[in-house]
Formats: sequence, structure tokens, C-alpha cells
Amino acid sequence: MNPTKRDIKPAHEQTDQPGALFAARVLAAHGSHFLLQSDDRNEHLAVSRARRQDLVVGDRVSARTTGAQSCIIETRDNRRNELVRSDRYKRKTLAANIDQAAYVIAGDPPFSEELLLRVHLAAAFESVEFAVLANKADLLASHSALAPRLALLRALGVTVFELSATSLETDCVEQLSPWLAGKTTVLLGQSGMGKSTLLNRLVPQAQMRTQEISERLQSGKHTTTYSRMFVSTSDFRTALIDTPGFQQFGLEHLSKEQLRYGALEFHTAGQRCRFNNCSHLDEPDCEVRASARDGRIDALRYRYFRSIVQEALRPSNY
Ligand code: GDP
Repeated sequence: MNPTKRDIKPAHEQTDQPGALFAARVLAAHGSHFLLQSDDRNEHLAVSRARRQDLVVGDRVSARTTGAQSCIIETRDNRRNELVRSDRYKRKTLAANIDQAAYVIAGDPPFSEELLLRVHLAAAFESVEFAVLANKADLLASHSALAPRLALLRALGVTVFELSATSLETDCVEQLSPWLAGKTTVLLGQSGMGKSTLLNRLVPQAQMRTQEISERLQSGKHTTTYSRMFVSTSDFRTALIDTPGFQQFGLEHLSKEQLRYGALEFHTAGQRCRFNNCSHLDEPDCEVRASARDGRIDALRYRYFRSIVQEALRPSNY
């Protein structure tokens, strides 16, 4: 039987007693093993009743202590939001209940505009605030080449930080701390952009902590292929979720209407299309297409948006 709210005691009252139910959030998940943090800030190893695919980092759960060292997860609260990537065969929820997404890019190696748009669409659809961390600003030539793209993102209302995870002259921690404070932020990026380096600056001992989580969840070397949440030791409300680097970010779970909804930059022009359900692909009198042609909408982002919508129009498993 599912526990009711009344059964769940504040964590500090009961988490060490066998049978007690307590509320917690998921810090890391590997198969049916989980690392939880109860609201009294203690950590607990837990298992789920079955191999649950539906528990991810950031989930709020109620768990029951089953022994001095062990817990079992009973229920999961409804999610406020979730960040998902998916291809035709598989859907992966990277994190749940997040406030904001920080997407790391760099000029060298060149970042992918298409991946950035994909993550931006996924975040916008879930009403997750989206910021770009333009890393490696110390590499002056490659970084300054990003200027027009960063200006465009700012014009679209995206928060952009220009920083360097390795420079001793500027302090990326100082730059980012006010934005991160009090929020749960998911850190994402294409491999090679410097996400791990940045994480290690923001969370001292992140590497050691990752190793420790890996050992506790008995996940061997694989923990870096899963998301993990690092909670600030000084402010419980500030948390950073590291996600595995990627080279692809499928949006097969979103319909063309949902993609359109996420593509905020096309909304104004979209209202002037001949058809109000215009997919902005090939319909006559499509104002979005016309705007991309004459430069009122960024042509590159429109081109990638088209290929993403075309993907969504293929029959899929969702
Ligand atoms: P990840 O794949 O995104 O986690 O990238 P890493 O953190 O492993 O970094 C990839 C490479 O970029 C490494 O050689 C880092 O030393 C380097 N790197 C990371 N941040 C910076 C930076 O701000 N400036 C410069 N010049 N190199 C960086």
C-alpha cells in the first residue's frame, strides 16, 4: 500500500529506525541502486522494489529504512519537470525537478549549433531557464569568433557567461556563483567543451566524490555515464547536476507542436503564418521561413529547426 503524507515523518525524527518512512531526493541512480539525501541532509543507500527506470537524479521520493545501512524506495513524487533526450528506440531522462540548465560550449573544438538548439528546445519545452557557458574564453582567437553567435543568443533572451575554467586571471566560480545560488542547475555539454574541468572548479573534490558514489552504488567505472547531483555544503538549496557528455541529443519524444512551442524565437513570426498550425517547413505563406530567408530570423538556427521537425514527423516509437 502506498504511504500517505501522514506516514512520512520529518527525516531527522526517524530515518535511523527500521521501518520509518522519510522524504528524500535522489542524488545518483545506477540500475536499482540509489544514493539518496534525506531532508536532514543525511545520505542513504537505497534500492527500489524492481529495476525502476523511472527514478532519476532530482526525483523526490519517500523511502523506508530496512536496516542500519539500507533503505527501500516506496514512492516517487510527481515531477515538476524533467530533462529528456531520446532517439527512436530509447528515452533517457537526464534529471528531474530542475530550475535551470547550463549548457557548456567552446570555440575550440567548435561547438555544434544544432546540439545547442536541441538542448535549448528541450529546456524551453519544460520551462527550464537556459544559460550558455561559453568556456575557454582564454583562447582568444577561437573565443572571439563566437561573438556573433553569443550576441544572437543574448538577443534571444538567453543568459550567456563568457568564462575560462582554467584561467588564473578570471575566476569562473565567482562569475557563476550568484546565478547558481539557491537553484538546482543541470550542467550539460557536448564532450570536449570543458564541462568536467568546470565542474571541478565549481565543486571542489567532484572527482573524488564521483569515485565515492561509484563505489557506493557498485557501479564500477560507469558512474560517469549517469547524472549525479552535488549539493552545496554551505547552502542546501544550491545543487549542481552533472550529466554525461554527449555527441547527440535526440528529441524524438517531442511532437512538432511541442518543438514549435519550445522554439520561442519563432513565435512572433509564426503568428503571421497563413496556417495557425504551420510547421514552418513547406507550407505556403510561412512567415518563419520568409523571415529566415531575409535575415529577420537566424538562418542557421532555422535550418537546424527544420531538420529537427522533419525528424519529429517520421513515425517513431513514442
Ligand atoms: P568535457 O569533455 O566537456 O568534460 O571536457 P574536459 O573538462 O575534459 O576538457 C577538455 C579539454 O579542454 C581538456 O584538455 C581541458 O584541460 C581543456 N579545457 C577545459 N576548460 C578550459 C578552458 O577554460 N581553457 C582552456 N584553454 N582549456 C580548457
